[in-house]
Amino acid sequence: MKIELNPIDPLSRLIYDKHKIGANVRSSVPPCTLCREVPEGAVRGHFHGSELGQCKLKTYWDCTSGSTFEDPLEGRVSEDDIDARAAFLLDGHLHEENIIKNIAASGMNIMGYGNQDEYERKIQVYVRYTKNGEKSSIDFTMPHNKAPNRDKVLEGFEESFKIIAHLDGILEVKSKKTGKEMLAGVECKAVKDYTWKKIKETSEISDIWYGQIHSYFISNHHIQRFYLFIKHRHTSQMMKPILIMRNDDYIKRRLTALHDVYSAILDDDPDKYGIKAEHTSPKDSECKFCPYKERCYGKVKVDLNTVYEEEE
Ligand code: SF4
Repeated sequence: MKIELNPIDPLSRLIYDKHKIGANVRSSVPPCTLCREVPEGAVRGHFHGSELGQCKLKTYWDCTSGSTFEDPLEGRVSEDDIDARAAFLLDGHLHEENIIKNIAASGMNIMGYGNQDEYERKIQVYVRYTKNGEKSSIDFTMPHNKAPNRDKVLEGFEESFKIIAHLDGILEVKSKKTGKEMLAGVECKAVKDYTWKKIKETSEISDIWYGQIHSYFISNHHIQRFYLFIKHRHTSQMMKPILIMRNDDYIKRRLTALHDVYSAILDDDPDKYGIKAEHTSPKDSECKFCPYKERCYGKVKVDLNTVYEEEE
């Protein structure tokens, strides 16, 4: 049956516009409860889980540019495409929710299931400098508020920055070997064909995802392992969950990077703390999706197939 795709019907246009407005309204409410309190354009003094693995310079600009960041799409694509991006990011949450619901429907135990507030974690990072002769070193600790030996753990440390993490799910599983209960984190990503193929071909995942998962490890010391679920947005195919184990060296390295960014924000001096681009090519996967690409590389051609992808 051949049909008229663009009938002259004012109601069709009205519903279309309402959907766009709704997507923009919903996507403008930040998932982070602390961000909701930051006035528009103000400097942000806390970090998000994904920023643990993110380029330091991007994080610095994200925190200090308020909402006035440069949009690589501006002026190059239609407004409809920009609206589609808002809907695309919202759809990502539906995919995540579905994955968690499917696991729950199988009878597996999911901690705090049905209570999304359970999954926002505010991590207070404490820092300590020690000097051994000429050498100085930095240490971090993040004891839970109710940790029994908290005061002892915090000796010599001072309060520093906060990370806000939003977990997708925590599974409660019984180890077949020991019979003991253990916690396994779940992170879900719904990706476009481009990213799906890239992961399959290179076995490489985004540094931002890896950092995000490590922010969840530090939010709950009882989580011993993480599973990354990757779903193809168009075909609904799913990769076998990818096991990610805690990497303490990585955590220390990236907390040091965030501490540099935090100090640079407080002193308003990025050079003093070595806040530089962490990549050198606009083709780097992180730069491809970065809104500051033109600041780093000047005018670059934007590939619309890769211009946005799953973030949190
Ligand atoms: S374009 Fe690349 S190097 Fe520049 S801020 Fe963004 S992620 Fe960092």
